[in-house]
Amino acid sequence: MAETFELEIVTPDRKFFNDQVEMVILRTPEGEMGIMQGHIPMVVAVDIGPIRIKKDGEWREAVISEGFMEIKQEKTVILADTAEWPEEIDINRARAARERAQERLQSKLSYIEYVRSQTALSRALARLKVSGHNKRGFQ
Ligand code: ATP
Repeated sequence: MAETFELEIVTPDRKFFNDQVEMVILRTPEGEMGIMQGHIPMVVAVDIGPIRIKKDGEWREAVISEGFMEIKQEKTVILADTAEWPEEIDINRARAARERAQERLQSKLSYIEYVRSQTALSRALARLKVSGHNKRGFQ
């Protein structure tokens, strides 16, 4: 039996996940990060992207947007702006969001507008990727 730890993922809307898991892998500004039981306690920023959770030997994937993760001895908590399982993702909505962001990025934008459009694009591409509708990856 692999050692487990408690993983909780919370968004402003809901408690997305709360269970004992063997491992979680997600994106941080420094790159991909994997957490297992006994990881050094720390707080890190979380990036938009897929999150992979290993439970009972099986991997499950979801998509989250920006947030923070607190790693403690027995429990890891992720606070993210949004989180969805692949089957929850509305493909047409994500495609429309991608197109809107790409169009905006063609025009002259302030720095704030540029950053907003880039993050909106990243969210849309991450959703499409995790739902299996964008094989090209995302930024
Ligand atoms: P949109 O422009 O379509 O609203 P967005 O990236 O701005 O996309 P968010 O602000 O990240 O949307 O999310 C707002 C809420 O809508 C969250 O609860 C999120 O889980 C949900 N959501 C956003 N896009 C999708 C999608 N394509 N499928 C399912 N849920 C979505």
